[in-house]
Amino acid sequence: TENLETRDPDLFDAIQKELGRQRHEIELIASENIVSKAVMEAQGSVMTNKYAEGYPGKRYYGGCQYVDIAENLAIERACKMFGCEFANVQPNSGSQANQGVFQALIKPGDTILGMSLDAGGHLTHGARPNQSGKWFNAVQYGVRQQDQQIDYDQIEALAEEHQPKLIVAGGSAIPRIIDFARMREIADKVGAYLMVDMAHFAGLVAAGIYPSPFPHAHVATTTTHKTLRGPRGGMIVTNDADIAKKVNSAIFPGIQGGPLMHVIAAKAVAFGEALRPEFVDYQKQVVANAQALADELMKGGLDIVTGGTDSHLMLVDLRPKGVKGNETEAALGRAHITCNKNGIPFDPEKPTVTSGVRLGSPAATSRGFKEEEFRQIARWIVEVVDGLAANGAEGNAEIEEKVKAEVEALCKQFPVYPTL
Ligand code: PLP
Repeated sequence: TENLETRDPDLFDAIQKELGRQRHEIELIASENIVSKAVMEAQGSVMTNKYAEGYPGKRYYGGCQYVDIAENLAIERACKMFGCEFANVQPNSGSQANQGVFQALIKPGDTILGMSLDAGGHLTHGARPNQSGKWFNAVQYGVRQQDQQIDYDQIEALAEEHQPKLIVAGGSAIPRIIDFARMREIADKVGAYLMVDMAHFAGLVAAGIYPSPFPHAHVATTTTHKTLRGPRGGMIVTNDADIAKKVNSAIFPGIQGGPLMHVIAAKAVAFGEALRPEFVDYQKQVVANAQALADELMKGGLDIVTGGTDSHLMLVDLRPKGVKGNETEAALGRAHITCNKNGIPFDPEKPTVTSGVRLGSPAATSRGFKEEEFRQIARWIVEVVDGLAANGAEGNAEIEEKVKAEVEALCKQFPVYPTL
């Protein structure tokens, strides 16, 4: 009967502070979003109590009739969103979705070809410290020096040289549209599977404003919490019945046990939201906002990797101002603008320092910001960065305080969870 506030005041206090942070700061981390209250309600529900190893209708536990409804809804809606025949909604995270596909289709020691972390790929695409880089012979592709775009000729040459069993398209810092048809052509040339990790742009695909990985991909993975605006989690979709069967066995019993039924319930809610017409408007606004932000940052003297963006994210090259990614992340944080330092292609700085920051529009678009607000945010960023450039790593406290007050005033006009 006791609620969280009286049962565990310390934890309650931490949650309240996090709510305050989300309300009063502008969230520009490209991989984050603000889910609906309905999504949180499903995730905070009694479905957290249920063991449901197996799949709907084929469980290893009794009493699964209602969680089956939740998982079937999530599957049906996922298939509708991506125009696919099969979906596995059980991966606990994007990393586990990728692990699940590897477990299903390849063996330790096999060669995989993925984008390198420093060019914009993800850890799970074959980076050295990740299991994908330790258990597989991971070959990595990058971007072209001259235009910072994916180097398809290099991918083709590497594929022919190393004969990978699986090629990964997608990543965490790719601002431009990926040529899935070209990737499939390369995969077919060497008899490899093409896995598209659409974690970042899945919401744009669902809304039909970014090309679908299908029919080119053999299989696609995603997180559910980025542009898709669902609970933290992962998912695998495919049109190939044989791959679907292997993927199901790979997720359970291959790498996971009991699925997180409360999270799957929340995925179902989010996917339902993504099938509504408003979601298309939202995603169009996400891209328009990112483009406005990029444009205004360039006007302020910053470089944008590839000269702009086709999606929800951009990489800001800070070198024209002579400042570093780590100090910029900290200075913007003091001004209540949250982002992450990020290496830019061919970054001369260490990954702990970097010459860039990655910015994204999904979360701030969810709170209602449009182009005008994003242009204002860009001008604030330029002010803070100029303060850093003039004052060194400690920044300019006066400017940061002024921007912070303006940020808070804007945030008040666009409330986050006003009824919580
Ligand atoms: N794949 C890509 C492209 C990502 O950007 C991410 C998230 O950072 C992941 C996979 C991993 O997702 P998670 O953090 O849920 O394991």
